[in-house]
Amino acid sequence: MRITKTDYLEYTFCKKNLWLKKHKSELFENVELSDFEKKIIEEGNLADEEARNLFPAGVLVDSFGQDAIDDTKQYIDKKEKILFQATFAEDVFFIRADILIYDKEKDGYELYEVKASNDVKRKEPHHYINDLAFQKSVIEKSGINIIKTGVIHLNREYKRLGKINYDELFVIVDLTGEVEESQEKVKKQMSELKQYLDMPEEKRCECLYRGRNAQCTTFAYSNPDVPEYSVHDINRIGASKKIFFDWIDRGIYAIEDIDNPDVLKGAKKAQYDACSMGKPIVDQIAIKEALDRLVFPLHFFDYEGFVSAIPMFDGFGAYEQIPFQYSLHIMQKDGSIEHKEFLITNPKGDLTRPLVERMKQDIDPNGTVIAWYSSYEKQRNEKLAELHPDFAKFLENINEGMFDLMTIFSENYYVDSAFKGSASIKRVLPVIVPELSYKILNISKGDQASERWEKMISSDTSEEEKKQIEKDLLEYCKMDTWAMVKIYEFLKRI
Ligand code: SF4
Repeated sequence: MRITKTDYLEYTFCKKNLWLKKHKSELFENVELSDFEKKIIEEGNLADEEARNLFPAGVLVDSFGQDAIDDTKQYIDKKEKILFQATFAEDVFFIRADILIYDKEKDGYELYEVKASNDVKRKEPHHYINDLAFQKSVIEKSGINIIKTGVIHLNREYKRLGKINYDELFVIVDLTGEVEESQEKVKKQMSELKQYLDMPEEKRCECLYRGRNAQCTTFAYSNPDVPEYSVHDINRIGASKKIFFDWIDRGIYAIEDIDNPDVLKGAKKAQYDACSMGKPIVDQIAIKEALDRLVFPLHFFDYEGFVSAIPMFDGFGAYEQIPFQYSLHIMQKDGSIEHKEFLITNPKGDLTRPLVERMKQDIDPNGTVIAWYSSYEKQRNEKLAELHPDFAKFLENINEGMFDLMTIFSENYYVDSAFKGSASIKRVLPVIVPELSYKILNISKGDQASERWEKMISSDTSEEEKKQIEKDLLEYCKMDTWAMVKIYEFLKRI
């Protein structure tokens, strides 16, 4: 069995999950990575490739497996100055080093790991120090002296302006001291990891003591006694350790088996009550007061945003959200509704200016703008105001009066146990407006929309496919604001 650096990092996060991946890979067969997860991996690879521009004389080891190990050895024997993807295997451990730089005076190599992040992470599973210590241990076992270790990550201050300036886009951080300090601990973990993977399956699964959001996809396999909707689904239960651990220790997994509900407060208690009573908990007065404050015409508004590790457009930096689309349903006092939308289909020049110009035409400054999880829309407006100061007042005015429809659910004015403790529109909509569904659309999630937009604007995409993606994007964003309209109408009725 070969153990890669990724395996090691997974082990430090959850050894059971790694064991299952190695011995019961069929459990992961039907669990497809989301488009967004795939994009994160691609972005990581892209950052690695782009960072090579910092070292134009570097040589890439472009072979794989044993060939890559042999090729690396030849380059090292020749004392090649800069190597990308140098490959080493020692015992069962296998690594590819992003960048190695030979120091003739010290007769040793500097080792750099490229990360598509904005800082140095020191928390499992993304622990850059342990990551480097693992690589250093494997390389040194091959008889090579590593004299310096560091991370090359993206500079959060950098904004693109014309051609990318690689010296400004990347930051090089020397982590030699920290890596040396953690090396003994990492070597010990490596030997424990080897032993653990040779052992029979451990039945225990630590996530029995964690809330649903912290669990992986194999939780149900390791915990067949836990029902699909369990105490793990109670709103932020992972943070209430005393209460939660007590239930688990006493074998209380189903919400209806809770024998001390009085210890619950706020959202947790409301969820429990809705569950045990079998009907929603509704605070009609609070809902009425919140909705009565809205001013017509109501603007149900939603942006879609795009992010990339390597900035693609002027004015934006690494991982900075670019609003590329909006949908707007406008409701008048008499209930009549009109739909407006905008999508950047051919990015050029001042990318977001046409979008903000259209917003100015579409939005009546007298009416309330309504969003779901409004902090996202507000942050995009702040960025647009920074890029287009002549629209700053208009955008600030929107932000000042913006109403977040999600608060009706996050503040527990309306709680249905079927929301499973969440106030996300994807959870709320199918429960209260079941006839509306994202499932019939070709795009059903925001991260998928972002990935599709990138595909649509690519010069490699055919005109026919571009047209289809454009249609899918417009339908998806329109659904987001139409869903808000229907939820608003539902709330008005009650
Ligand atoms: S559910 Fe949690 S403890 Fe169990 S295998 Fe997955 S990550 Fe590990």
